[in-house]
Amino acid sequence: MKHSLRVCWLYHDIMDLYGDKGNMMVLKKRCEDRDIDFVLDTCGIGEKKNLCDYNLIFLGGGDDKTQFSLIPDLLSRKENIKQAMDENTFVLLICGGYQLFGQYYTASDNQKIDGLKFYDYYTDTGADRTRCVGNIIIEANLDGIKTQIVGFENHGGQTKNVSKPLGKVLSGYGNTFDSGYEGFYDGKILGTYLHGPLLPKNPVVADFVITKALQKDDPEFKFEDLKPLENSFDEAARDVLFKRLNVEK
Ligand code: GLN
Repeated sequence: MKHSLRVCWLYHDIMDLYGDKGNMMVLKKRCEDRDIDFVLDTCGIGEKKNLCDYNLIFLGGGDDKTQFSLIPDLLSRKENIKQAMDENTFVLLICGGYQLFGQYYTASDNQKIDGLKFYDYYTDTGADRTRCVGNIIIEANLDGIKTQIVGFENHGGQTKNVSKPLGKVLSGYGNTFDSGYEGFYDGKILGTYLHGPLLPKNPVVADFVITKALQKDDPEFKFEDLKPLENSFDEAARDVLFKRLNVEK
C-alpha cells in the first residue's frame, strides 16, 4: 500500500514562532526519503477546508495578540476539528496552539479567551508576567516508545490540570514553572511547549507523528514499519543540548 501524509497547517501565516515551520520541512523530508507521498496544505483565517480530508493537523505557536485574532475562526471550526479527530486525524500542537485546545487562555494583560474546550487543561498567565524561557529536555513515553525530547520554550502561559502530560521535565520548565511535567499526549493530540523547532532535533517524535497520521488510512501501520533513516546530524544537534544542560543521554 502506497502511504501518503496529508497535512493541514492551520494559520500557517501567523502561527509560526521560533521556526515551527521547520516541523513541516522535516516531515516532508522524512516522507520523501521513504517514498511516502507528502501533501502540505495550509489554512488561513476564513479559508474553507474540510479538516477530515487530512491525516495530520498542525498548529504552531504565536504571541498573545495573534492567538486572540484567530479565535473566532478557530471556534467556528470546532465541529469540523472534532469530527476529524473522531475519524483519527492526528493533531500536533505547539505552544500557543496547544493552549487553544484546552478550556481557556488568559494572557498577561488579563484578557481571557475561550479555547476549543476539548480537554480539561487551562492556561493562566502569572500576575508578575514572568515567562518560562530556555532550552528544555523531557523524558516521554510515546505509546511504549521511550524517548528524551529536546527543544526550546518561551511562554508566559502556565498550563494546569493536565491529566496526561507528554513527559517529565529533566531540565527546563514545562507546563508551569514548577509542575515538573510538560505537554499533553492522549493518543489523539500531541501538545507541547517545545519549539526549537520540535521535529528536527527529535527524529523519534517526527517518525512517531508520521506513524500516528498514517494510521488514519492504515490502522495496522506500526512505527517499526518506517524505513530507518540516518540521523547522525540530528543526534549531533541533540548532543549539544544534552551537554549544555548537563543531562545524561
Ligand atoms: N502567547 C503564549 C504565551 O506566551 C504562547 C507563546 C508561544 O506560542 N510561544 O504563553
